Amino acid sequence: MKVTFPHMGHLWLVLQTALEGIGLEVVVPPPCTRRTLELGVRHAPESACLPLKVNLGNFLEAKELGADTIVMAGGVGPCRIGYYAQVQREILRDIDCEYEMVVFEPPDVHFSEVWDKVKYLNRRPWQEGVGGVILAWQKACAVDALEQEVQRLRPREERPGQADAVFRRALQGLAAAGNRREINRLVKESRAELAAIPRQPEVSLLKIGIVGEIYTVLEPLVNLNIERRLGALGAEVVRGLFLSRWINDNLFRGLLPLPGHHPEKTAPPFLNHFVGGHGWESVGDTVTFARQGCDGVIQLAPLTCMPEIVAHSVMPAVQQAKGIPVMTIYLDEQTGEAGLQTRLEAFVDMLRRHKNKIVG
Ligand code: SF4
Repeated sequence: MKVTFPHMGHLWLVLQTALEGIGLEVVVPPPCTRRTLELGVRHAPESACLPLKVNLGNFLEAKELGADTIVMAGGVGPCRIGYYAQVQREILRDIDCEYEMVVFEPPDVHFSEVWDKVKYLNRRPWQEGVGGVILAWQKACAVDALEQEVQRLRPREERPGQADAVFRRALQGLAAAGNRREINRLVKESRAELAAIPRQPEVSLLKIGIVGEIYTVLEPLVNLNIERRLGALGAEVVRGLFLSRWINDNLFRGLLPLPGHHPEKTAPPFLNHFVGGHGWESVGDTVTFARQGCDGVIQLAPLTCMPEIVAHSVMPAVQQAKGIPVMTIYLDEQTGEAGLQTRLEAFVDMLRRHKNKIVG
């Protein structure tokens, strides 16, 4: 069995460790590129969600490298996530791309099913398998900790790109790390390298919160590296969605003591209940960012994403009540770099004027 999985930002590193930890041979799909997207777009229905198309491209590229089994997360809720895996299975079958699919539905709804699938995949004694999963979790926490430092540094570094270069090296090192001591050493060394990067003399920076559908928030191919673009425009990016928090919320049912989303506390009265995907969190996090003094919020979503459309519909009320400008960006395969850059520059310019007016 040669297993592969869909990409979502740096998730590959965590999944590779977990799956190798339970004794499987893993084929990491090539990093997402325009080719990945084009392959997915060619075979998916036009109206399908953008993440479905990109992931389909991942599966086709992994097939070229010999993968024969897909491990992926399913989903529940009022949007299309619930039949995502089934649609992909049918498309792959139609184009004679043979794959076995192991789909993990959310454990709070289908716990015994999840357990059966873990037993099916596991090739190692249990204590070794659990060790691999714990190592994967430690890597997720390390990636997130370093990424937050890079987000802080991007608008401050003298020469753009230095922090990202350190982060890229750290990701490669973390992927190969075989135990907790190595992870800690890599984090320490990367932090020291980040701290040594020359910074600009203190300038007035903007702080922008990113909210939205998780795939568009975490996958740089589909958001066209929005965080780097904002950093280069002098804006520090903050967000609530990180791999470790997503894993904690979805797989561990929020049991680990991490700062997570609490949309039930922050989103009402603007949105009082779960609407699928991360729509509720988008509203709740926007309120949180307004309370934390962010200058603006950018909501990211795949075109036609129902939960984010619902969240978008209440954003004007949040903006008005909390006094925080919000810009919504829908992304699809047609989204172009120049158009996105123009919108970001205009938004940043508007926020800067707004801030200067308040300060003045
Ligand atoms: S959350 Fe949005 S993008 Fe994801 S499956 Fe649901 S509708 Fe599609």
